[in-house]
Amino acid sequence: MSDVSVPNDVTLMEKVVNLSKRRGFVFPSAEIYGGFRSTYDYGPIGVQLLRNVKDAWWRSMVQMRDDVVGLDAAILSPPAIWEASGHLKNFTDPLVDCRQCRERFREDQLEDLTTCPGCGGKDTFTEARNFNLMFKTHAGPVESDAAVAYLRPETAQGMFINFSNVLQSSRKKPPFGIAQIGKSFRNEITPGNFVFRTREFEQMELEFFVPPEEALQWYEYWCATRYQWYIDLGIPESKLRMRPHDADELSHYSSGTSDVEFLFPWGWGELEGIANRGDYDLTQHATHSGEKLDYFDQATNSRYVPHVIEPAAGATRTMMAFLLAAYDEEEVRGETRTVLRLHPRLAPYKVAVLPLSKKDDLMPMAREVLGLLQPHLMCDFDETQAIGRRYRRQDELGTPFCVTVDFDSLEDQSVTIRERDTMEQVRVPVAELLSHLLPRLA
Ligand code: ATP
Repeated sequence: MSDVSVPNDVTLMEKVVNLSKRRGFVFPSAEIYGGFRSTYDYGPIGVQLLRNVKDAWWRSMVQMRDDVVGLDAAILSPPAIWEASGHLKNFTDPLVDCRQCRERFREDQLEDLTTCPGCGGKDTFTEARNFNLMFKTHAGPVESDAAVAYLRPETAQGMFINFSNVLQSSRKKPPFGIAQIGKSFRNEITPGNFVFRTREFEQMELEFFVPPEEALQWYEYWCATRYQWYIDLGIPESKLRMRPHDADELSHYSSGTSDVEFLFPWGWGELEGIANRGDYDLTQHATHSGEKLDYFDQATNSRYVPHVIEPAAGATRTMMAFLLAAYDEEEVRGETRTVLRLHPRLAPYKVAVLPLSKKDDLMPMAREVLGLLQPHLMCDFDETQAIGRRYRRQDELGTPFCVTVDFDSLEDQSVTIRERDTMEQVRVPVAELLSHLLPRLA
């Protein structure tokens, strides 16, 4: 990834937000009704990118391992889960109101506790009060206390409450993990910074259950493994760091937490937290539910409550980090070329098939080439505008390869492949197209 002419960081953010709208990555939600604060819709290109981020995670965490299985648990959940997990009591942020402009802020995010960042008022804040971040609703037609339900604020509890179900049905034994990707909801006091902090977002979480004496070793293993995942997918090391929490940041049950942080345009921000959670979660649910949530080890003839190592990442936030890291601009023949240097695994389209001209005679062959590639690769097909402009469009989408069908193609059954990063072009017979492209996109 070159950083020769990466624009300075304030404009980088604006440029990525503009590109997202213009090219169909991310749209502000409910725009035709004036928008709905800090909610976003993922457009035709964004939905692919987000899917690819999640697929890359699933591939590395589930597909490539024999000690992790998947789960897709319900989003609507009864209060009992959140009572046991501690969320009803503790999942709060300190909220302050400005008495002058009525804006609300998270006290722990204020730079100056005496000055309102909204109106500049001095000493206008109320006392902080704990604000619970969970979205509360009612299941069924009666809005009674008995019908209260919550939208999950994290996916993790689904793994704990299904611990026995998964243990019995999958025949796994510790060390083993349960992975889940899905939506979570938090009534954030101050959402913002594009999709960095939203009230509805997607998480990718693993709960890894281990014998207690192996917890530290697995914690270190997951810290290193998760850091490497971002590097392997193209985040430069200069923009990624591992930050161990200070003792006063740790939750009471955690004996270690580290965050993987990315250098966002406004500073370092968390992409993922890896926590050594001890036996807190299983013990809490066992106590509250009255069910045994432990493991009987036949080898040692002993029963124990596994400890949990939890790598918890945000899919939407991570997608944004990949976009920011991939954005590049360079001078090409006196013009600025914008290019997303996304890892091929993440690129929304892998290939764009471009008939050189819209004339009828090229269309059948171009469609044939598209049909050859589509079962294997996500493809775009674009027949409008001059070829140079179509290349530029694909550069902005991060498409690694453009395949151009021209008039010679009709004679020699070959096509031109143009590579995104180098803009180099090679001529390849259609019969060899797939075997040329596939290894370069792995
Ligand atoms: P933060 O300190 O930023 O509020 P957190 O420490 O509360 O995050 P976790 O509960 O550890 O976050 O959740 C795991 C991951 O889920 C985070 O690292 C982040 O990537 C993602 N995440 C959490 N809250 C949000 C949100 N409001 N919007 C988008 N992603 C989020």
